[in-house]
Amino acid sequence: MNATPLLETHRLSKRYGDLRAVDEVSFEVRPGEIYGLLGPNGAGKTTSISLACGLLKPDSGKISVGGLDFWNNPKAARRKMGVVPQELALYEELSGRENLEFWGRVAGLSSRDSKTRATELLEALTLTERAKDVVKKYSGGMKRRINLGCALMHRPSLIMLDEPTVGIDPQARANILEFIKKMVEDGVGILYTTHYLEEAEDLCDRIGIIDHGKILAEGTLDELRGQMGDEQLFVIEGGFANQDPEQWPGFLDEFKVVQKKDKQMVVSASQEGDPADYLKKLLAVPVQLENVTLKRPSLNDTFLKLTGRDLRE
Ligand code: ATP
Repeated sequence: MNATPLLETHRLSKRYGDLRAVDEVSFEVRPGEIYGLLGPNGAGKTTSISLACGLLKPDSGKISVGGLDFWNNPKAARRKMGVVPQELALYEELSGRENLEFWGRVAGLSSRDSKTRATELLEALTLTERAKDVVKKYSGGMKRRINLGCALMHRPSLIMLDEPTVGIDPQARANILEFIKKMVEDGVGILYTTHYLEEAEDLCDRIGIIDHGKILAEGTLDELRGQMGDEQLFVIEGGFANQDPEQWPGFLDEFKVVQKKDKQMVVSASQEGDPADYLKKLLAVPVQLENVTLKRPSLNDTFLKLTGRDLRE
């Protein structure tokens, strides 16, 4: 039996003038899962989170939190959520502990509960030793951790994290990812945005690939990789700047151009054919080649196939 989703968005849309920042976006976050919105800069991730947590009002579409319509019950819905924005929302002159306790009181905890919960979170975020230091003396990674803690004081069951590991060192990043995994084991649900492929692959149970405000594909990592399953991908390197594959005899009968750059092309071919034959045919194109390789499908290839661009570009 499926539990009620912690968050459901149904055809959410938001425009800025002529720009469709979020375009009919639907997804759900279930208890005990991390749902990742993966997309390049400007894809619409932050706007989606801002809509999902009620910071922005959608032009159209619906949001339910634990089965409740958000805009009919905004207070009750907000109590279930912890939102961690990209920008830090900390008081630099207060200590880490004071910041946590302050946000605990804002969220409605008693002074005593705030203290207990702050102690618990400082421990979990490995910040106990620095609890009394003012935040302005913290490193970037420590500030990110306290910022995360502030949103968790009231023990929300749905947590929204907007690119929480941007710009911090690998150790602080590992620490945050570890902490997030533990929370999920305890049954919370997480909406997580990132433009790091590896992070999405490592962390997320299900992923929605977003670009230009639209979710282009959604599923588990295996399901998304499986979308490449009916094709073999080859990377060919050489000089393609003034070349047009349409002019190469018979080439487009067999291959599809997934991406063409000056020095590299990615092409796909049917799964049925023998890779060795394909390699021979690719080596025969009328261009000076430096390398031809068969590629193992990755999430980046799914992204490439859907958008014609690398996520890393
Ligand atoms: P990033 O990874 O850079 O944070 P993103 O995927 O979160 O990107 P959004 O911040 O949601 O993307 O932006 C989506 C689009 O909407 C972009 O083209 C952005 O320029 C535009 N946009 C966002 N906020 C506004 C605003 N307040 N006014 C006008 N345009 C906006």
